[in-house]
Amino acid sequence: MPAHTSTQVVVAKFPTGAVQLSDLDIARVPVPRLEDRQVLIETQYLSLDPAIRYWLNPYDTYVPGANIGTPVRCFAAGLVTASTHPEYRVGEAVSGLLNAQSHIVYSPDSSLGALALTHCDLSQGPLSQHLGVLGMPGMTAYFGLLDRAKPQTGETVFVSAASGTVGSTVGQIAKLHGCRVIGSAGGAEKCKWLVNTMGFDAVFDYKAENASEALKRLCPAGIDVYFDNVGGDMLDAALLNLSRGARVVLCGAISQYNSGAYAGPKHYLKLITARASMNGIIIFDYMSQWPAATAQIAQWIRDGKITPVEHTSDGIEQFPQALIELFAGTHVGKQLVRVA
Ligand code: NDP
Repeated sequence: MPAHTSTQVVVAKFPTGAVQLSDLDIARVPVPRLEDRQVLIETQYLSLDPAIRYWLNPYDTYVPGANIGTPVRCFAAGLVTASTHPEYRVGEAVSGLLNAQSHIVYSPDSSLGALALTHCDLSQGPLSQHLGVLGMPGMTAYFGLLDRAKPQTGETVFVSAASGTVGSTVGQIAKLHGCRVIGSAGGAEKCKWLVNTMGFDAVFDYKAENASEALKRLCPAGIDVYFDNVGGDMLDAALLNLSRGARVVLCGAISQYNSGAYAGPKHYLKLITARASMNGIIIFDYMSQWPAATAQIAQWIRDGKITPVEHTSDGIEQFPQALIELFAGTHVGKQLVRVA
């Protein structure tokens, strides 16, 4: 096996509030020799996801807590360059929880490894898309909307953080199912882009307009499905505007991850009066169904019904800045770092 050095983005200290550049550091470490049933992966893209901030805490969530001096936990995609594992061939493209590093020796049989190392079929789309619409965020949109909310033709679907990967994919899939789609996003430009390019029926700027009033204006008959990416006040505004029999899918809470003090909904009684339901999703629970969903989304992309959108920063050293920009909402679509 050739000798390698891995460049890593490591946790220098646990952030308090929003991530600062000084919370993360760059390290170069030797790559260990492969043991039995392991693979060496050279990463090509690192995925910026809001959950990275949630995982940058010392305590366990649905993944183990972070440790100082270790690579930041994140999804990444790359090529297998050496393998002692019968299910992974040299040259094959894979994605998973490979963390912010240029090279990783990975054990697919470990508890997280078994959950999270996926073969990427490049005939369905380029590797970068396997971290976006064809990957974890796309799967979250697909199963969160279609399996959890079961939208019906003619229903009104509201999705928050609509300019992100999950939100923009939810909106496009809901349109494919004959729904009226309302979104929220930060800034007039993003709102215009979602209507003109992504086919949303209407989008309001949550930084400029009270969300509850905007929803009353845009959903006069109420919201049938609320896909919640934001939590906090946005969740409350949606609850106040639910229609009878509405379904709320709790997908994420990007407005809460930096605070660490997670505010619960004030208006939960609306679930009673609206005879509504609210439930959460963790996308790892659907991993056995990913291949079929990926094939469906790839077909929609080929048919021009889903538009993949990416913003890529070049160089692994850009990862900390890209993470800060994700929370600032600087770009639209899937945020990536190209490693080399
Ligand atoms: P993206 O990184 O693609 O988009 C994030 C967007 O969120 C930003 O561009 C920004 O846009 C918006 N945002 C940032 N801060 C706030 C805030 N305080 N209030 C409202 N909006 C904000 O994210 P994804 O689409 O990948 O993820 C969306 C949600 O889905 C996240 O909460 C994530 O944790 C969750 N998720 C959950 C999964 C699960 O298994 N449950 C799996 C994958 C994702 P703007 O300019 O509009 O503010």
